Amino acid sequence: MSLRAKLVVALLLGSLLSIALVGVVAHILLMQRFDDIVMGDASRNFRGDVVSYYRTYGSFEAALRAEPFSSFVRRRRVALNVVAGREPIDIANPDPPGEPPSLSIHELARQDPEAAVALAPITPATGTTGDPNEANRSGGRPFHPPFHFLLLDADFRVVLGAGTHKPGVTIPPQDRTHLMPIRVDGARIGYASLDGVIHYSGPDIDYLKAIRQALLFGCGAATLLALGLGFLMGNRLSDPIRQLIAAAGAIEQGKLHQRVKIRSGDEVGTLAHAFNRMSDELERNHREMQVLNQTIQQQADRLKETSIRDALTQLYNRRHFDEQATTLFGQANHHDQSLAVMVGDIDFFKTINDRFSHATGDAVLRQIGEILRINTRPGDIIARYGGEEFVAAFPETAIDHAASLCERLRQAIETSPWHTIHPDLRVTISIGLDGNRTLGTLEAMLHAADQRLYRAKRSGRNRVCFT
Ligand code: GH3
Ligand code: MG
Ligand code: MG
Repeated sequence: MSLRAKLVVALLLGSLLSIALVGVVAHILLMQRFDDIVMGDASRNFRGDVVSYYRTYGSFEAALRAEPFSSFVRRRRVALNVVAGREPIDIANPDPPGEPPSLSIHELARQDPEAAVALAPITPATGTTGDPNEANRSGGRPFHPPFHFLLLDADFRVVLGAGTHKPGVTIPPQDRTHLMPIRVDGARIGYASLDGVIHYSGPDIDYLKAIRQALLFGCGAATLLALGLGFLMGNRLSDPIRQLIAAAGAIEQGKLHQRVKIRSGDEVGTLAHAFNRMSDELERNHREMQVLNQTIQQQADRLKETSIRDALTQLYNRRHFDEQATTLFGQANHHDQSLAVMVGDIDFFKTINDRFSHATGDAVLRQIGEILRINTRPGDIIARYGGEEFVAAFPETAIDHAASLCERLRQAIETSPWHTIHPDLRVTISIGLDGNRTLGTLEAMLHAADQRLYRAKRSGRNRVCFT
């Protein structure tokens, strides 16, 4: 997985988890607050109904004998609605067809707080005795109060039951916690207690739905923003690292001079700075190494040249001739091509030394080397074999052709302007040749050529013998 992908995933996960957490916490807090408000409204209304019920008949016994609590509540709502200047509204059918909708408890609270508390039962968000059939009995649609209330008198006897509690039964002390006292003129006339789970009204559910939708929409928008920002930030954060990786890859491929343009002052900026410095140093070292390599190569070439050349004539030396000529001999055999070898010896060279000086002798050797070089092909191998003796190997050259070549060499030596070295200087050479590969070895051919050289010397010198 690339660094960019990891950064994007990390940013997205962080953002999405935060959004989910905020959404869940906001929803829990919203539900708690909503339940508190619903419960507060319902408790106030229920207590108002109970106090009114009690005051109307003087005691719970008298009240229950005179009229069921539910019908008292319904009557009281109608009466209070009239007091509030509104049409009487049936608790089971709060908004008759064709009528404008009832004011919400919150809208009414702004206009008439006292009536709002009393009128709250018009909306279903109201505490009742918990009898879900009371609306059915009145012929309307089912009415579900938000809470079921249990009403106890001052001696903890059940006046109005809810759930499993039967009227007239005294509840045990352990069940008396969380009771809400109900007072009339400062005297405690009884207790109310919530019973069962909350049951939201239609408008409450609509409210909750709208708020949940808003919350979901907000979370959705935040998620989209997190996605966009995640990709942008992931790209932006990983960009310097990708630059560094590309530059390192280029160095790996031999493009040593790399510069990354990262100006940030963070760790990546420090890394980029160090990378640029290392790249500069690498390139400088590489350049120095190239120069050094070149020098070493030149020195090695020079060394190799001196190791294969004769210092005086600059022709090949004997060792190199033996190597190269042996190779030529092998190739000639392999391709069945002709090969000729020559052995030449300067005539009366000792006399030249003696008569004109050793230095003159050296000059003669140098000059003969030059004549041999310029009168042969690059593929021929010419060497000073020792003293005043020269050898040559002529590849792909038949014996008669080699003979005429050697004759030209002999003449070139004889006619060279030796007088420029010394007016009386005359130099000639005797040459023996062989072109018979069937002798089997290069040494055998050289020996045969040497025999003919000996013959050339004996028969008067300054000549070429090839048979
Ligand atoms: P021949 O015609 O029979 O070959 O007689 P030559 O005098 O040439 O033969 P010899 O072998 O008697 O003499 C060769 C001389 O070559 C002896 C030696 O002093 C001389 N010589 C060998 N190497 C060098 C060298 O490097 N420089 C000089 N100046 N003379 C050398
Ligand atoms: Mg000799
Ligand atoms: Mg000689």
